Amino acid sequence: MFSDILPEYLGANRFIDAKESLSGPLEPQHYKRFAEMATMEPGGTYGVAGSREPYGPRTVRGHVACSATVTCQRCLKPMSINLAGEIVWGLVFSEVEMQNLEKELDPILIDSGQLALRQAIEDELVLLLPIMPMHDECDSGWIPDSEPGDALKNESPFAVLAGLKNEKRP
Ligand SMILES: [Zn+2]
Repeated sequence: MFSDILPEYLGANRFIDAKESLSGPLEPQHYKRFAEMATMEPGGTYGVAGSREPYGPRTVRGHVACSATVTCQRCLKPMSINLAGEIVWGLVFSEVEMQNLEKELDPILIDSGQLALRQAIEDELVLLLPIMPMHDECDSGWIPDSEPGDALKNESPFAVLAGLKNEKRP
């Protein structure tokens, strides 16, 4: 199935015991907290599947992926980024269970039997955001306030290139 609207809550035990799975598009308007940091583009996807080994932890595994626009922290212009992450959740129903959870699982606390799926997905997306997003190379050559006509007259791009070449000579 690839059309499931991501539900806000899931019955945790049923999802795990029945080994259910869900996948579909991420709806940008569902993620208000994410929207404070970045603009999610349409076309993002998620997939989650519940499972449990006998006597093992209840797990939800899957993925999230989307494109987003953030502000470059160097030139303050928008930049596009692709976010993709793996979901490896261990569902826990108490603080004690959380402490005993296997280290490779990210603990998700279940309240009243409900997995707050949308919130957990949003947490994953927020964690994927770079702390200091920056272009590899900011487009600093273009300064809108200057008068490019004058610059072109005085120095053609080829002259600049030639100059660079000369500088490299020992
Ligand atoms: Zn930049």
